[in-house]
Amino acid sequence: MTRYGAADWDRVVEVLGAADEVTIASHVKPDGDALGSLLGASLALRKLGKKTRATWDASPAALPVPFEWLPGATSVVQPEEVGGAETFLALDCGAGDRLGSLEDAARAGECLINIDHHPGNDDFGDLNVVVTTASSTAELVARLLEDMNVPLDTEIATCLYVGMVTDTGRFQYSNTRPDTLRLAAELLSYDVPAPLIAQKVFESSSFGLLKLTGRVLDRAVLVKDARLVYSWMTRADLDDTGVNITETDSLIDAVRSTRAADVAAIFKEQPDGRFRVSLRSKGPGVGAIARSWGGGGHDLAAGFTADDIDSTVESVARALASGE
Ligand code: 5GP
Ligand code: MN
Repeated sequence: MTRYGAADWDRVVEVLGAADEVTIASHVKPDGDALGSLLGASLALRKLGKKTRATWDASPAALPVPFEWLPGATSVVQPEEVGGAETFLALDCGAGDRLGSLEDAARAGECLINIDHHPGNDDFGDLNVVVTTASSTAELVARLLEDMNVPLDTEIATCLYVGMVTDTGRFQYSNTRPDTLRLAAELLSYDVPAPLIAQKVFESSSFGLLKLTGRVLDRAVLVKDARLVYSWMTRADLDDTGVNITETDSLIDAVRSTRAADVAAIFKEQPDGRFRVSLRSKGPGVGAIARSWGGGGHDLAAGFTADDIDSTVESVARALASGE
């Protein structure tokens, strides 16, 4: 049966099953779900005897510290090594441009498969499995593997569990459904070291990141009318604390933890002086706000790029106040 009513599901099972070589890529600045589904899919396809290359747009593509221990790291190649592939699997990309520099190679291949769970995904693949009710892309990969009759093992299950535990905020967010926990339980049954994963992924901050978190929290501003809390981080902060931008995903979680606000935002200065903005909400939809700025994401977790902080905050606050 076609799962989740995803029209191309069966076709994806067939095409992946028949492919000899698969190039797999996730989105720029990959998070736990992007990396867990990437490496889990790569290990599983290799188990079926296929050649795989796993990558994402970065120079170099290197696993961030919290994920560098992930099984399957040896299948990571550099994005330049990827040409027009016979079968190209894009994972966790809400839009084609989330592949960054790999988008052209992805589209040049014979068959581009798009597996994702972001609302607003524009079905950029030749085949699309976009299931917005899925907790994570890792969950979709797990279900596809089941239909492809790939037996799981500790390594594959570990990668997929990492995708699930990170995208659900340790099974706390609203995307955690009964089936999510049932699948996570099944993954754990393959001897997945859950406590070790929690430590590696959630308690692996460098000391510098602790200091940077302090700066960010100290700067936090509350826009009471909009029930919005925001803060920011500059390139100088990164230099001073010795923190790499790839380590800063947890900053938004510190900012969002106050009961004084429903929506949290963090602005992260990029090398070009613009800001990557992360939005998190306890209720009001922020996905549409991010999309209106050319970004995207889920209802309660989204992101975009902005030119400056003050005018963006004003506009986001206005959108929140008007409920649009
Ligand atoms: P984060 O704030 O962690 O970078 O992103 C939150 C969510 O929004 C993630 O699901 C991420 O994939 C999505 N997202 C963040 N930035 C963008 C963007 O510029 N475009 C799109 N389409 N999605 C984004
Ligand atoms: Mn995801």
